[in-house]
This record gives sequence, structure tokens and C-alpha cells, in this order.
Amino acid sequence: MSNLFHQLPSIDSLLRQSAMQALSAEWGHVRLVAILREMQQSAREHIRQQHQLPAWNQDWANHARSLLHQQSRSGLRPVLNLSGTVLHTNLGRAQLAETAVAAAARAMRSPVTLEYSLDDAGRGHRDRALADLLCQLTGAEDACIVNNNAAAVLLMLAALAPGKQVIVSRGELVEIGGAFRIPDVMTQAGCTLREVGTTNRTHLKDYRQAIEEDTALLMKVHTSNYQIQGFTRAVSEAELIALGEESDLPVVVDLGSGSLIDLSQYGLPEEPMPQRLIAAGASLVSFSGDKLLGGPQAGIIIGKKALIERLQQHPLKRALRVDKVTLAALEATLQLYRQPDKLAEQLPTLRFLTRTRQDIQAQGLRLLPAVEAACGQQFCVALAPCSSQIGSGSLPIERLPGTALTLTPRDGSGSTLMALTRKLREGDVPVIGRIHDGSLWLDLRTLEDEELFIRMIST
Ligand SMILES: *Cc1c(COP(=O)(O)O)cnc(C)c1O
Repeated sequence: MSNLFHQLPSIDSLLRQSAMQALSAEWGHVRLVAILREMQQSAREHIRQQHQLPAWNQDWANHARSLLHQQSRSGLRPVLNLSGTVLHTNLGRAQLAETAVAAAARAMRSPVTLEYSLDDAGRGHRDRALADLLCQLTGAEDACIVNNNAAAVLLMLAALAPGKQVIVSRGELVEIGGAFRIPDVMTQAGCTLREVGTTNRTHLKDYRQAIEEDTALLMKVHTSNYQIQGFTRAVSEAELIALGEESDLPVVVDLGSGSLIDLSQYGLPEEPMPQRLIAAGASLVSFSGDKLLGGPQAGIIIGKKALIERLQQHPLKRALRVDKVTLAALEATLQLYRQPDKLAEQLPTLRFLTRTRQDIQAQGLRLLPAVEAACGQQFCVALAPCSSQIGSGSLPIERLPGTALTLTPRDGSGSTLMALTRKLREGDVPVIGRIHDGSLWLDLRTLEDEELFIRMIST
């Protein structure tokens, strides 16, 4: 065995090989030496355990090259999301519009007027440009941008109701996932939660009776990821706003998703619109940048100028503010809403949501021969009607009719199916589908790069 150890080449002798010199030119001397040291260690380990040299001992340069490539692969790998969920939180939610991507890249490459006013060369405010745009789009008086909608809720509560009571219906104490629960956020913000009503029914009188000396806010939370059905009663935003005016209390609404356009015009289920709540008199409305809006991760708060001012002055705002890259991408996304008739074409989220089953079915028929050629021996390949989800807690009950490619193992074996899903996950651009009823379902609603898909399924 010690003989085998002696057969391992020294780092110096390896570095003299011409293939290694090429690697050193590409990756740098320091990194190459580090990887060769790792290889020496693993070769020794191999000899100790297997009593033979590793196969790659024949060609250290080639093995070093593949290890270097492996190490350099991003931890944020682009994937093909064929899971059937358009806004998939674990896959990064909204895919940005090309104009938003370009705006983000410009802001990354160059200094920008983030907090600089070109009018007088003085200090500007980082939210100003977006706030003006949001006011135009929603009719609000002012706006504030933070890191995500969870941060928006935290900031609204911390700035407007510290040490005070906030009234919320029991039926709206949502958990969004990732440990965001309304009661916990209240605690973090230093407010006291005053629950009113019951799980299924809350009346206006429940809110009215709960108002006390130290009540600071009336809050409404959109139950975006669940629905209570049956014998139910919820107080509408309009009723709550009227009570707020009567009692001189601000009414804040956490919309979660919220859509700046009326989705029903595309035959999609309706989602509450921030501008309608502003028109109805809500004091503040918050929603996410990367849910139905289709932009980068952000929390948007719109509403009354005096209240937004208090949010902007609060120390937490500094901790929750967004950077120039997010602001640039969000601004470009919002700009698209000025051309609503072109939105379904330009905004990927809306483009995916508005695809018809007919269109997706036609795409499936186009792809079927290539998928059969690649997998037909082991799998029965077919097209099947499926229903896609919007995702991110938006419209949880509603489904969108679409079409999926289904791959069913001819031998009926679960391990054949697992081997396929593993192979698809291990490709250069992993293909993410969904297992259902012994088959792999690839929902085509969100597939645009057909050539890439065929390449990934064929290798
Ligand atoms: C999604 C959601 C949140 C959290 O928003 P993020 O942007 O994910 O932080 C808060 N409230 C409601 C009602 C939501 O749907």
C-alpha cells in the first residue's frame, strides 16, 4: 500500500505539465494549487480505503478542471419551473420583465441618482421617484418601499401603534409560512393584538365594542392563502373604513398580493386592487412586489401622506429600506402598468397566467415527438389536462386550466420514476416537475424556452 502512496505525483511535478499551466492561466495559481492539494488528500483517502489508485490518477488535469467547474457552479441555479405553480416561492416567485432586468443591470453598473436631486444637486429621497409613480397609478397620496411585505406590515405596526392596541378579526390571523404570523409580528412591533369576532364570523359591532382609549389602529388582513367557507361573515373594507372615520382611527390593510389591474378582464379570478381600497378611504395599504405585481421582492405601502411620513421617519425604515437594484427593477415593472393593454405581453407573470389551455395544448403537441424520442423507451409520454396554481398564497382556491406532459414508467416502477426526476434535477438547467399518481407531470404553462427544455430532457 505504501508503494501506492509513492506513486502519487507531487504538486510541483503536476504544475510543470502543460495542461496544468493552461488551467493556471485560466483559474489562477493559488486556486489551482488549492484544488490539487484537495485531490492529493482524496487520493490518499482512496488508497487507504480501496487499496488502489483513483481512476483519475491517469489524468489529474482533466479531473482538476471538472472539480473547478463544479465548485464554481452557482448556488442559485436557473431552473425550468414546470411545477404548475406560477409564483413558486421556493423558486423565487415572479420572473421579471426584460425591461426590469435591464434597469437592474444598469443600476448595478453605474452610479445612479438614488438619493440625489438633479434639480438643485441636493439630497433627494430614495423612495421619491417610485412614490410619484405609485401615486399616479393608484391615486394614493404617498408611498414607502421596504424589503418585502412582511417588513411593510412590521413597519406599519411599529410606527403607528407602539405600545398600543390593534384590532384584527380572528378570522384574519394568518400564517403566511416561513414563520410570518400576524400575532407574532404584532409582538415584534410592540403592539397588543386585540382579536375580535370568531373564526368564521366577525361583525362590525365586534370591532366597535373593542375600541378603547389605547386603540391605535383597525387592521384588515387579506386571507390570501386560505378561505373560510360556509356560515361566515366578514366585515368589508368599506364598513371598517367608515368605522375608522367615525372613531378617528386609521384603517390599515395588508393585502399580501394585490393586483394593480383588474384580473377579471382576462377571465382570471378577481384579486383585491390596492387603488380601490385607497379610493374607498383606507389609510394605508401594503402589498408585495414579487407576487401578482410581477416585480422584484419588495413591500409597497401606499396611503395617506401624514402616515407615510411617520413610516419614513421611523428608525426601522432604515433597516428595512431597499437598495438601488431593487428600486430600479421595481420602477421598470411599475412603468409597464402605464400601458395596461400591453401588460399581458410584457410582464411574464401575467403572460403565464393568461395563457389559454388551447395555446398550452398546441405547445404540448409540438414538444411531444422530442420527448417521446428522448424518454419513450422507458416511459409512456402523453398530454393531459391539468390545473395550475397562481401560487404565493394568491387566490388559493382558484385553478387555471392548462396542459401537462405526463411521463409514466412502462414498468410501473417508482424507482424508474425517481431515476427520471433525479436525472432531470441533475441537468445543467434542472427541470422541476411534480409527481402525481405514479407519473411525472410537467406543466407547460410557464415554459417559454422550448429549445432548452428539449435539450435538457434529451441529455
Ligand atoms: C405574502 C403575504 C405576506 C408576506 O409578504 P412577503 O412579500 O412574502 O414578505 C404578508 N401578508 C399577506 C396577507 C400575504 O399574503
